[in-house]
Amino acid sequence: MRVIVTGGAGFIGSAVIRHLIDDTAMEVANLDKLTYAGNLESLASIAASPRYCFYHVDICDSQALDTVFAEFQPTAIMHLAAESHVDRSIDGPSDFIQTNIVGTYSLLEATRRYWNDLPPEAKKAFRFHHISTDEVYGDLEGTTDLFTETTPYSPSSPYSASKASSDHLVRAWQRTYGLPVLVTNCSNNYGPYHFPEKLIPHVILNALEGKPLPLYGDGSQIRDWLYVEDHARALVEVVSKGVVGETYNIGGHNEKRNLEVVETICELLDELVPLDTNSERSRSYKELITFVKDRPGHDRRYAIDASKIERELGWVPQETFETGLRKTVQWYLDNDQWWQRVLTGDYRLGRLGGDN
Ligand code: NAD
Repeated sequence: MRVIVTGGAGFIGSAVIRHLIDDTAMEVANLDKLTYAGNLESLASIAASPRYCFYHVDICDSQALDTVFAEFQPTAIMHLAAESHVDRSIDGPSDFIQTNIVGTYSLLEATRRYWNDLPPEAKKAFRFHHISTDEVYGDLEGTTDLFTETTPYSPSSPYSASKASSDHLVRAWQRTYGLPVLVTNCSNNYGPYHFPEKLIPHVILNALEGKPLPLYGDGSQIRDWLYVEDHARALVEVVSKGVVGETYNIGGHNEKRNLEVVETICELLDELVPLDTNSERSRSYKELITFVKDRPGHDRRYAIDASKIERELGWVPQETFETGLRKTVQWYLDNDQWWQRVLTGDYRLGRLGGDN
């Protein structure tokens, strides 16, 4: 397979590309605009591979997309490029509408132009895999319901509404034009190379600097956490073996309250980098937890029923929340160079070199 990964310099996209290069024989083109969230340093370990190349392209740029398609001749697209941070979507929805909706439309049309001209066998084997979120389903009532592939859409934020729109476009391109699409909706990811604005890395890095650990509302919102490398493996299973036109929900069976997540990070840090070991009173990073005004429209609970992908494609997560979170905290402790360069903005300096 020759795969174009859009958004390959982002958190999940870079995990997908590292997995594709390290563990498969696929050829990979990373197509990324390099917004603030794109960081080519997350791909340093595979950048020299002869099976990897990078295109510095905006998915809204139809002409540039045509050029990449003609040059790279993909057999599949894995579409992850998106604006992804809910708080930013509340402060300024415009980029979310542009990239997540208009950009997905441009990418679908470029794919359709290219796909229409393929020979029949290649046309049949081609895949357009759209990577989406469980946030399109909105809020779950109570404590036992789960999102399934048939749960009606009810997005709450500009981010989730823009992702829901893009999911609808992708499915319409299959129904209307026969484009062979797959859709996946995944729960919250965490793990290495996560941009520090997101909850888990934000808490780890603030704790290490002795800064407050902000929690929205009372911290009782529930999210279903999945280790990013488990998500990357699931996505590669879906693009390789998934049934065209199907949706697969992906989740880790790890429902946790935000407060529990932050307290667990504090406990891990208390063990790995204890505070003030000489003091009589043993101090904990938990003392830094601070409750702040809740986010508008904040969904209370998300939880995924991932039984379809487990049953039909044999995928199961390898990490529990405990093992995955320990690995993540340890990764941030061992890789301060990566996140220091993100915090100072230096990661953006080298981005003009080496692209096509
Ligand atoms: P991210 O913000 O870390 O990365 C997004 C990437 O897309 C960046 O490299 C950015 O430069 C690129 N990009 C943005 N606009 C672009 C454009 N117009 N053209 C080309 N590239 C552009 O996001 P992420 O957390 O890695 O999420 C990837 C995908 O997975 C998104 O579609 C998101 O909706 C979805 N998703 C994320 C999560 C999660 O927990 N992070 C969960 C489920 C689904």
